[in-house]
Amino acid sequence: MAGTRKKRNKWLQRKHLFLWVKIMTRHYIIPIFVPHFGCPHDCVFCNQRKITGLSTDVTVEEVRRIIDEHLATFKKDSFIEVAFYGGSFTAIKKEIQMELLKVPYEYKKEEKIHNIRLSTRPDAIDDDILGLLKDFKVDTIELGVQSLDNEVLKMSERGHSDMDVYESTRLIRKWGFKLGHQIMLGLPGDSRKKSLDTAKSILEMNPDMIRIYPTLVIKNTALEDQMNEGSYTPLSLDEAVETSAMILMAFTSRNIPVIRVGLQPTENIQMGKDVVAGPFHPSFRQLVEEYVFRLLFNEYVTRNRIETKGKVLVFQCSNTKTSIIAGQHGRNRERLIDDYGFKKVKIIPSIKKDNKVKIVIDNEERVIDLDEEIKLYVNNNPI
Ligand code: SF4
Repeated sequence: MAGTRKKRNKWLQRKHLFLWVKIMTRHYIIPIFVPHFGCPHDCVFCNQRKITGLSTDVTVEEVRRIIDEHLATFKKDSFIEVAFYGGSFTAIKKEIQMELLKVPYEYKKEEKIHNIRLSTRPDAIDDDILGLLKDFKVDTIELGVQSLDNEVLKMSERGHSDMDVYESTRLIRKWGFKLGHQIMLGLPGDSRKKSLDTAKSILEMNPDMIRIYPTLVIKNTALEDQMNEGSYTPLSLDEAVETSAMILMAFTSRNIPVIRVGLQPTENIQMGKDVVAGPFHPSFRQLVEEYVFRLLFNEYVTRNRIETKGKVLVFQCSNTKTSIIAGQHGRNRERLIDDYGFKKVKIIPSIKKDNKVKIVIDNEERVIDLDEEIKLYVNNNPI
C-alpha cells in the first residue's frame, strides 16, 4: 500500500514537473565544459581540448561567471538547465566535483535554475558517486556508452566493457536520475551491424534520451595516426547518414527523444580545422531527417501503389518540415522528380501539425502521418 502511494506521488510529482515545464516558455541550457578534467583515459578518438575548444580546467569562479552571464540574457519564466559537458565529470576528484556542483546547487535552491545535468563514463559510476550527485540535486546523467561491442570498446581504448554500461545504467535508474545514453558510429572495429546491435541493446535499457555521434577524426588524436597509417577508415557521409537514420527511427518509434545527431559544429569543429576526416556536415541531423523522409515517402507510395509518372505532386506541411521535404539545395525535390517521374513538385507550408504531411496528386488528397509511418517502417525493418 505504502509502495503504491509512493509510486503515485512520484508520478504526480513528475506530471506536475512536466506541466510546469510546458507552461514555461523556453528551455535554456547553460553549457559548462570540463575538458578532459579528471578523465584517466585517452580514447583513440578523443581530444577533449579540441572538441570543447578549451585547454584549461574550469574553475569554480568560471562556473559562477558562466551561469551569471547566461542568466542575464534569458527571458523570464524560462526552464533553465546547467549542463557539465566534455570530460568525465564523475571521474574528477570528489572534492572538485563537490566544489563545481555547489555552484549550480545554490542557484537551484534559489530557483534561478531548474535542472542540473552532467555527462560521464560508465565505469565512473557507483553508489557513492550517485549519492553525492543526489545530495547536489543533479537531475540527469548522460553516459558515454559509445558501443556495446567489446571489441570496438577495446580497439577504441575506452578502458571499460559493456558490463560497465549495464551496471551503471541499473544504478542510475535505481537512484532515480534521468538517464541519457550517447553512442558513436564508425569507431575502430565497428560495422553497421555492430552499431545497430548497440542501438538495439540500448533500446532494451530504455533510456530517457540518446545522442548519436558518427565518429569524426579530430586533429592530434590516436585515431588520426591510425588513419594516416591506413589501419582506420572513417565512415563516409552517406554511411553515417543511413545508419543514423535507422537508429533515429528506432528510438523515435519508441518515443525516446534523440536529442542530438552529429557533433555540434563550432568555430573549430569544422572540416579542415580540428576535424581532419570523417562524416562531418554542419547540418548533419537535417541530412538524416531528409533521408528518413525519402524512405518513408517511398514506402508510402509503394504500399499505396500511387501513380506518379507525369503528375504534379503538392506537399502541404508545417513550416519546419518544408526544408526537410525539399532537402538541402532542393536535392530531395530533384530526386522525387528523377526517381518517380513527377512533372513538378510543390511544397506549401500550410498546415500546423508537424507530424502530418498532406500530399495532393491529381486533386486526390492523402495525409501521411509521419509518426505512424516511422512505426510501420521500424516494424517492417527492425534494427
Ligand atoms: S572518457 Fe571521454 S573525456 Fe575521457 S578520453 Fe574518453 S572520450 Fe575523452
